[in-house]
Amino acid sequence: MRLYNSLSREKDTFVIPKDRPVTLYVCGVTPYDTTHIGHARTFMTFDVLIRYLRWQGAEVRYCQNVTDIDDPLFERAARDGERWQDLAERQTAQLLEDYRGLNILMPTYFPRASQEIGTIIPIVARLIALGHAYVAEGNVYFSVQTDPGFGKMARMGYDELLATANQRGNDPADPHKRDPLDFVLWQTGRPGDPTWESPWGMGRPGWHIECSAMATRYLGEQIDIHGGGADLLFPHHPCEIAQTEPVTGKRPFVQIWMHAGLVWLDGEKMSKSLGNLVFARDALREHSADTLRWYLLSQHYREEFDYHPAEVAGSGAAARLMRDALAATGGQGMPLHPEVPRAEFAAAMADDLNTPTALAVLHIMAGNIVRAAADGREVAACQAALRELAGALGFTLGD
Ligand SMILES: [Zn+2]
Repeated sequence: MRLYNSLSREKDTFVIPKDRPVTLYVCGVTPYDTTHIGHARTFMTFDVLIRYLRWQGAEVRYCQNVTDIDDPLFERAARDGERWQDLAERQTAQLLEDYRGLNILMPTYFPRASQEIGTIIPIVARLIALGHAYVAEGNVYFSVQTDPGFGKMARMGYDELLATANQRGNDPADPHKRDPLDFVLWQTGRPGDPTWESPWGMGRPGWHIECSAMATRYLGEQIDIHGGGADLLFPHHPCEIAQTEPVTGKRPFVQIWMHAGLVWLDGEKMSKSLGNLVFARDALREHSADTLRWYLLSQHYREEFDYHPAEVAGSGAAARLMRDALAATGGQGMPLHPEVPRAEFAAAMADDLNTPTALAVLHIMAGNIVRAAADGREVAACQAALRELAGALGFTLGD
């Protein structure tokens, strides 16, 4: 199959390994607020990838982390006078409930950053020993000057890299840094934040190193596919590459980097600061999992998705047509064959998960089954194929 690789900026060929599972790491959420449609779209994208790979006969080993060491989580817990562990636990449970509601598969590994301090510290120590990182007053920074290829995935010059990093949490004014773009591997943290013991004093890991540690621990030093939302194109994923490859000595860390486009709401960027988030569980109160899935897969995963609440229900008709087709009773007339739609579906999905085309194939197939059954034709083989292909996209086909 071909998958668009954000690092090469091309559709690269991905060959499913015959002798081992496919390894997939997807950056998870900071559990301090409920799953919104942007999260749902990202995780549904990788859910479809996994289901497609399995449909192709692959075994998939899938790790998704929980970023339970992160400023927004600590800030929210402090604001509400709650233990951060309790907030994280409750929101992680809610996330899993939302996944079940959306029919999103559970990860094989679901590690929490707070449980991986022992995995993280040796990697930071190794980066210091290799000269890629330095210690300053209890903080440890990765020195971007030691990595000539730093930030390559973002295709930006230094000034643009710095501006983008600053928008996404970098502190260029930190007096301990040698370069304002250097990023934190370990930090003393702010007063009141949770800390852990380390060779550099009490502190906590930086966000980027958490993912390198969990990805390599659970999936190995080199992984097949690493994904997340498009907001991770810089700095998060380039930081992961910079800090992982020197430690393992193996390149590339990741064969294919995949990013799902961000979600907008009625033409406005959906974001916490604008207060226009649509939460998955609210959407699921109004629509079935299949309706939401049809709607979210109706655009290619790399495109930005403009979510229009008034349009979601329209996808219900398509999901219903599939159910009608599966419930139709045919006759003994000329059989309806599934070979052509099956091949079209497979070709669409092998081309960087072209779900809009795959959905169009299912829609035509379902309509043909309903008509053929009414004409007394034999439709059982086509119904079985429709059930199989819809399943490969994650439809429940329930009521
Ligand atoms: Zn990550």
